[in-house]
Amino acid sequence: MLFRDAAKLVTTMAVTVVPARYGRAARVPRGRTIAVINTHGNQVVDTWAFAAADPAEFMCMEHTRSVNSTIYPRVGVAMMTNRRRPVLTWLEDTSPGVHDTVLCACNRQIYEELGIREYHRNCEDNLHEALAEIGMTVPFTPAPLNLFMNTPVGEDGGIVRLAPVSRPGDRVTFRAEMDAVVVFSACPQDITPINGDGRLPQDVEFLIA
Ligand SMILES: [Zn+2]
Repeated sequence: MLFRDAAKLVTTMAVTVVPARYGRAARVPRGRTIAVINTHGNQVVDTWAFAAADPAEFMCMEHTRSVNSTIYPRVGVAMMTNRRRPVLTWLEDTSPGVHDTVLCACNRQIYEELGIREYHRNCEDNLHEALAEIGMTVPFTPAPLNLFMNTPVGEDGGIVRLAPVSRPGDRVTFRAEMDAVVVFSACPQDITPINGDGRLPQDVEFLIA
């Protein structure tokens, strides 16, 4: 009984909750793994990574698409930095594998366009808030890896925005290929169905092992 409780405690302590509509940052040493868990299944997770030694080097969707010749990353693919070095490698994906590397993070202007008059939380601000919480400032917003975001690109180049097809507990696991800072934002989008038809952002979790 004691053993089981101790194991549960360790597991609980190692998991970081990213509250719905907020972001969290963490330092990840090279060689460690990072699992991102879609606790409720419907939540898009905007994801960034920076080189710990120099955040001017960051996980870059353009170079990742160029190196891998695809817009759809999957297990085995390395996410590349703007200096074309691997930063995160996909080790595991228990979800149906639907993610986005094309679209921007939501920001306050997007919510203004959607008719929201008061301040609306957004992934861009979540990134910078989360970095500030660990004492970092980055004067720009890289394009995010949008985990679980279902925005297929058609043959005509059109982009469709659909609800996620991921399920509760689905997770994606990466290996850090350099000492890195990772940031996750539980996207606050509640105007469109990008976080599910219920339009209700939910908590997600990540685990560094
Ligand atoms: Zn967002």
